[in-house]
Amino acid sequence: MTTTGAARPESAALERYEAVIGVEVHCQLRTASKMFCSCSTAYDGARPNSHVCPVCLGLPGALPVINRRAVELVLATGAAIGAETPDATRWDRKNYFYPDLPKGYQISQYDLPLASAGALSFDTSDGPVTVRITRAHLEEDTAKLVHGAGPAGQRVSLVDFNRSGVPLMEIVTEPDIRTAEQARRYAEELQLLLRTIGASDADMERGQLRVEANVSLRPRGSEPFGTRVEVKNMNSFRSVEHAVAFEIERQAAALDAGEALRMETRGWADDRGETYHMRSKETSDDYRYFPEPDLPPLRVDAAWLAQIRAELPELPAARRARYRDALGLSAYDAAVLVADADAGHLFEATVAAGKGLEPKPIANWVTGDYLRIRNAADGTVAVDPAALAALVGLVAEGSLNRTSAREVLEAHVATGEGVDAIVTRLGLRQISDAGALGKVVDEVIAANPDAVADVRAGRAQAIGFLVGQVMKATRGQANAAVAQAALRERLDATEKG
Ligand SMILES: [Zn+2]
Repeated sequence: MTTTGAARPESAALERYEAVIGVEVHCQLRTASKMFCSCSTAYDGARPNSHVCPVCLGLPGALPVINRRAVELVLATGAAIGAETPDATRWDRKNYFYPDLPKGYQISQYDLPLASAGALSFDTSDGPVTVRITRAHLEEDTAKLVHGAGPAGQRVSLVDFNRSGVPLMEIVTEPDIRTAEQARRYAEELQLLLRTIGASDADMERGQLRVEANVSLRPRGSEPFGTRVEVKNMNSFRSVEHAVAFEIERQAAALDAGEALRMETRGWADDRGETYHMRSKETSDDYRYFPEPDLPPLRVDAAWLAQIRAELPELPAARRARYRDALGLSAYDAAVLVADADAGHLFEATVAAGKGLEPKPIANWVTGDYLRIRNAADGTVAVDPAALAALVGLVAEGSLNRTSAREVLEAHVATGEGVDAIVTRLGLRQISDAGALGKVVDEVIAANPDAVADVRAGRAQAIGFLVGQVMKATRGQANAAVAQAALRERLDATEKG
């Protein structure tokens, strides 16, 4: 099997087989303290095992206390995906042994998740897609194993408990996803939603958003699901798409060759562009769930839930719809502005600052030149919304051409100077008044008798040459359309006279 499947996301395999894909996401919730203790979650860059206590170390006799904020963030996620919320839920112990789990069990939620039966909709290159979300529940993260070399060069595994007990939300979809692109887009839209409602920073590279995909194929037109393979270790959205595409190709090739697929967990090797066998999954794991005896059941009262709903910000889908329907933006501009927090803020603030300006040209400046400058700067750049509004206004009234305006924006980003000051300093104000151009137009006509003769003989491109001479004489400040009209008017008048 080659890796071409990764390069061609939607391939011929999908003509014969239908992919059935479910996605499972674990995301670290944005809380100040851990799930069941008061240890700080701000351990990024901290010394290993410096953010620990008896509870998150799993010491005998230590008692957990529920982090109310973590519960609220799962309830807010449920509200944002239109999920159902139980009146009461409880905590369950999920029992298994692993060195990163000192208690020998994880406190989780089994049959009463805080959110169930929701959905998430997003756009793809094939149109809009809605994926049903089975459930979202709350649990605690495990510690982290660090594999390295000991003093004598021997292989050692170390445990860092800073991550142990961080609140984790697991979000599971129905097997509604059909293509690798849909899998990537689902994960992207979920990240956007989680960030919008403040539930998680959801940074994939920092392990705050971990995506797993269950992939199986069935011949087109058949109902029963094929053998399911779990794919994990994808640490970017691009990896999600490539891993799922690779897995579709791999399974299709095996089925075509008459090979039986096996239930297994496969990892994604980004450098090799392929999935690899991690472990077999012949039987489903038996975690022997039972209710957590150290925690009381959790009641979700209606007033609490109503308050959480009321505090939800405008969600990404609603904001895209508003940009399209109320502000007249293209679907593309709306998607870019909503997906990029900096661009979205700049757009909103510029619309607010530029009373009377059309939103559409503002969106063009933000999604075009602003993002180009920012991406080239490889970081944040400061644009004053009032300055951008002034710039868009000058272009709209014909006082500044696009090229000059771009130059002004770059100067503003570099110096923070106001737009009017830059325009004056660089002498960029466009001359759109035909009267003001009159003298230059006369001079150009007098100095270029050959071109004038060509225009009179009906050679259209000659007028372009004359306009170019006007631009040159005004150091680019003339409005080209006004200059051309003025030239024609003079030539017509002198011809008749
Ligand atoms: Zn702790």
